Amino acid sequence: MRFSGQNVLVTGSSRGIGAEIAKVLGGYGLKVWVNYRSGADAAEAVKAEIIAAGGDAETIGFDVSDEAAFVSAIKTIVAADGAFSYLVNNAGITNDKLALRMKRDDFMSVINANLTSAFIGCRESMKTMRKKKFGAIVNIASIVGETGNAGQTNYAASKGGLIAMTKSFAQESATSGIRYNTVTPGFIATDMTDELSDDIKSTFTSKIPMGRFGNPAEVAEATAFLLSDHASYITGETLKVNGGMYM
Ligand code: NAP
Repeated sequence: MRFSGQNVLVTGSSRGIGAEIAKVLGGYGLKVWVNYRSGADAAEAVKAEIIAAGGDAETIGFDVSDEAAFVSAIKTIVAADGAFSYLVNNAGITNDKLALRMKRDDFMSVINANLTSAFIGCRESMKTMRKKKFGAIVNIASIVGETGNAGQTNYAASKGGLIAMTKSFAQESATSGIRYNTVTPGFIATDMTDELSDDIKSTFTSKIPMGRFGNPAEVAEATAFLLSDHASYITGETLKVNGGMYM
């Protein structure tokens, strides 16, 4: 895959989908900044794997819901590399409860981690990338942001908001050479979905036309495409990676 940019920050890339995105982008020749919140050792392992495969990577620990830390991380990257080409806002959490039992804090914790953090990342990227009139951002939302899901009003709101916010950023920055797109994964086999009971897993699987959960590499390749030069005329788009579960 062809990339005119040189480096990428992938938030929440110590494990799961983010780790796979980091490795795939490292394999395509980008310098990868592997972000983690608590999993420093796991992030070091992702970095080591990228370097062992002939790529370039650094780890950078910060909590994406800490605005000052996110802003400072982007400054660190620009100071080190002289550029900031791509961002993948992947870090995300769930805090599932039926709405009747959901406290305001339960709701806001997910909005802050999944949506407000991505807003900061998108805004700071725009500030930096417009100087070179080049850049691309992919926000990892979810099928739940398109369909809703019982027990996930907070998560659905955060991911639906992410889809709409991405289109707004795309409109504000199209003439600055910066593209913003969203990937909406369906059910992907990671720690996040490992928490689901076997009953719930088989109920969801029965609703997936392809008859299986996706794997992180399938999300990573779609993300890489949207960042790459091959997607140079694509902005504000939402790319579903869900095995046909929602068309
Ligand atoms: P995961 O296995 O739970 O991994 C989450 C990653 O995000 C970890 O690296 C974690 O780092 C990091 N993270 C969480 N909160 C953070 C914070 N405040 N600051 C920095 N890093 C943070 O999740 P996943 O399944 O790979 O999901 C990745 C993204 O895809 C999420 O946005 C999720 O909503 C979305 N998604 C997942 C699925 C699915 O089926 N798995 C489906 C649709 C969308 P630490 O370990 O250091 O905390």
